[in-house]
Amino acid sequence: KRSLVWFRRDLRSYDHAALYHALKQSEQCYCCFIFDHSILLSLPSDDKRVQFIYQSIVELRQALREMGGELIVRYGDPLNEIPSLCQELEIDAVFTNKDYEPNAKLRDEVVKARLAREHRQFSSYKDQVIFEEDEVLSLSNKAFSVFTPYKNAWLKKLASETEGGPDFYFKPYPITRYQASLASFEDRELPSLNSMGFDELDEDDPSQLKLKGGMSAASDLIEDFQNRIDRYADTRDFPSIKGPSYLSVHLRFGTISIRYLVSLAVRQTRIAAQNLGASVWLSELVWRDFYFMILHHHPHVVERAFKPEYDTIQWEQGPAAEALFQAWCEARTGYPLVDAAMLQLNQTGYMHNRLRMVVASFLIKDLGIDWRWGERYFALKLNDFDLAANNGGWQWAASSGCDAQPYFRIFNPITQSEKFDSEGKFIRRYLPQLAQLNAKHIHAPWTAPPLALAAANLTLGRNYPLPIVQHDLARQKTLQRYSVVKKVS
Ligand code: FAD
Repeated sequence: KRSLVWFRRDLRSYDHAALYHALKQSEQCYCCFIFDHSILLSLPSDDKRVQFIYQSIVELRQALREMGGELIVRYGDPLNEIPSLCQELEIDAVFTNKDYEPNAKLRDEVVKARLAREHRQFSSYKDQVIFEEDEVLSLSNKAFSVFTPYKNAWLKKLASETEGGPDFYFKPYPITRYQASLASFEDRELPSLNSMGFDELDEDDPSQLKLKGGMSAASDLIEDFQNRIDRYADTRDFPSIKGPSYLSVHLRFGTISIRYLVSLAVRQTRIAAQNLGASVWLSELVWRDFYFMILHHHPHVVERAFKPEYDTIQWEQGPAAEALFQAWCEARTGYPLVDAAMLQLNQTGYMHNRLRMVVASFLIKDLGIDWRWGERYFALKLNDFDLAANNGGWQWAASSGCDAQPYFRIFNPITQSEKFDSEGKFIRRYLPQLAQLNAKHIHAPWTAPPLALAAANLTLGRNYPLPIVQHDLARQKTLQRYSVVKKVS
């Protein structure tokens, strides 16, 4: 039997479900990756994610070569490229890992149907999550829509004894045991980034070096995070501290295995039962599965509110709303924590989780802008952009999601700043024009007396904007705006 493993968001050569099954079931196993031109054409030439994928492909190709195989790389439409590779290599079966996004599901259905016409199989496997949409259900066999009971059921299932033995659900797939089935093949040179319409990697540009792709970069991050995972619960909310793992982009593109991360967290909780850091971090990984599950059972969330009554809310529209939105995108709101966070996103493609909550709340509940505008902006900019998690995060902030924060809970951007960046360390990193302002005034510079502003070389309206809205007034307006929801529910 001759098989083809089609890599997508699973760019690694170890603990890989589709690769394992293909190797085990065939004598000749080929591997491929398609740069999907319909996705790439819509992206700017300096898109960091494409560069990340590219670096990951280079490394994956090398790893497969060292194991006796090859990664065949093509640029085009997978709907044509996969069937054509199958013909060229006389493939009997294509193996993939499941992708849960609606567009990807559709694409896979089309490819599967085309291959079926030529009597070729198409199989896909769970790999990206620990538990899929129907694996963790309530006692009445229904999908959960509240996180805590879902998490409890998830953890219970993880710990359950199965026929596969203890820790079955996060056992790695033993690739090396079957790697002899990898087929050797001499592929042409990789298409260059330039030939696909993207900027080449500039090793001298420090902003690019920060985002390293590939399995090796992921393992460097894990090594670093392992030393501080026990402090995660205490540090994760403070953007100036190295608290979180920064692994999201690697989870997005599969340069790390979710099973490996869960085994790491579980091991830590077992070593030290009191390891709150590891168990809180494990909860974050459960959130990830939770949002994939929600997207599956409620695909309408892509366009509309999870809770339908929230679709009756009237958001600000027209040129004034667009100007406010632009100010938010371009870090000109006059609220330092919000602006510093948006600069972090614009400059690095990453934003700290606490800040994602703060800026999302600010856009929706201080500026009165439709959460979908912010969701789209994040989708363009985030290296770790993931439809399920991003939509979940935005709907949480808009209060329209499952298990979202109540609509009357409105973050105060100043107190959030005082609480989570009390010394203004994070703000100063991204807004050097505020660097000399004291910690008391840095969260709301317009409250500083003229002398303090002068001492800090700051002229509001000139080198830093005045606030574009007044939080207290905006809060009242938002409560009014959301009152339609109260009437319905
Ligand atoms: P860690 O704190 O180290 O967490 C470990 C992993 O757990 C993350 O890498 C991620 O895979 C997962 N995780 C953590 N929090 C969440 C969460 N709330 N929901 C789902 N998974 C989570 N995460 C994305 O991966 N992609 C997105 O597009 C995305 N958009 C978001 C938008 C908003 C408005 C909000 C509030 C949150 C969003 N998140 C998103 C969730 C979270 O902010 C990021 O996963 C996290 O900041 C990534 O950093 P880290 O890897 O250092 O996280």
